[in-house]
Amino acid sequence: MIITIRKQATSEERAQLIELLCRISGSLHPMATTSVGKREVIALDGSSIDAQAQILLRQQPAVEDLLLIKTPYQLVSRAFQVEQSSITIGADHGCDVVTVGGTTASPVIMAGPCSVENREQILSTARAVKAAGAVALRGGAFKPRTSPYQFRGLGLEGLHMLAEAREETGLPIITEVMEPDMVEAIAEHADVLQIGTRNMQNYPLLLAAGRHSQKRPVLLKRGFAATLDEWLLAAEYIVAAGNPNVILCERGIRSHDPQTRNVLDLTCVPLLHNLTHLPIIVDPSHATGKSELVPIMSRASLAAGAEGLIIEVHEDPAHALSDGRQSITPTQLHGIVGEAEVLARMLSREA
Ligand code: PEP
Ligand code: MN
Repeated sequence: MIITIRKQATSEERAQLIELLCRISGSLHPMATTSVGKREVIALDGSSIDAQAQILLRQQPAVEDLLLIKTPYQLVSRAFQVEQSSITIGADHGCDVVTVGGTTASPVIMAGPCSVENREQILSTARAVKAAGAVALRGGAFKPRTSPYQFRGLGLEGLHMLAEAREETGLPIITEVMEPDMVEAIAEHADVLQIGTRNMQNYPLLLAAGRHSQKRPVLLKRGFAATLDEWLLAAEYIVAAGNPNVILCERGIRSHDPQTRNVLDLTCVPLLHNLTHLPIIVDPSHATGKSELVPIMSRASLAAGAEGLIIEVHEDPAHALSDGRQSITPTQLHGIVGEAEVLARMLSREA
């Protein structure tokens, strides 16, 4: 249920509404209002609120409108917002501004190494992916690695190197954040905060990404065993906490066959387009784990309607400090960008 608050509502009227809501929903916690565009709303799971209680709520002087939404996620649902969200990246750092989603934006290709390894590597890769046609630079500085003995990134030093690469190339930067306490510090430099597959249900982290002062767009990767409802509820945490700028990223789910690192679930793209207004991009690198599969699965992702791709690129994949097996070269990226343009023209002709 989403309740829109009247602009002119007094603080007494709001308090009265919140008290009533807590009573009828059985919640012990005061409900928080969230700004959505110019509207101020309260979102809650309305499944247990009966027709009589709804009438009572509609009569409240603070209430402008009451919308019943059947899914457990509310603010991210298509039922709440029919128009596709359009997320702006890079507006605050004087770099190129990129739009993901919306109705007219063409697919956005983000690329870069799995990890920032050193200054020369990230500067040279940034130049190469820009020349290949990517519009944003990815690079991990804080790396969630399966083994504690693997390279776990350069930390803040790596983040500063990414910022230098942005300065030189104009590409906005995307990097992962793993800890709630690091959100503000990373958001100061990064244009997009990536929340990785392992942290999709790290609720303190989701709340911190929702509340942080810069409201940087969040690239929320799908948990490797998450259902679409669980994923959308994770996105709901961020949006309900005050940050509407969420981009979903399908990166494959775990299955039984070691032929690929994960299974790329492309059915989620059209399904999500019905369920949510948030843009959805695909990461064919982590989904497949094999560089030779990345170009064709990139094509398939865009054909399924993905609003963009995030691809791991390394100039010397055999010597990458992480995820070399799935990293493509800048030349291969150039090929994918060319194909993406052709595909975008074909798909818009068909529309
Ligand atoms: C990554 O992007 O390098 C990464 C660790 O991704 P994921 O969380 O999807 O495994
Ligand atoms: Mn990686």
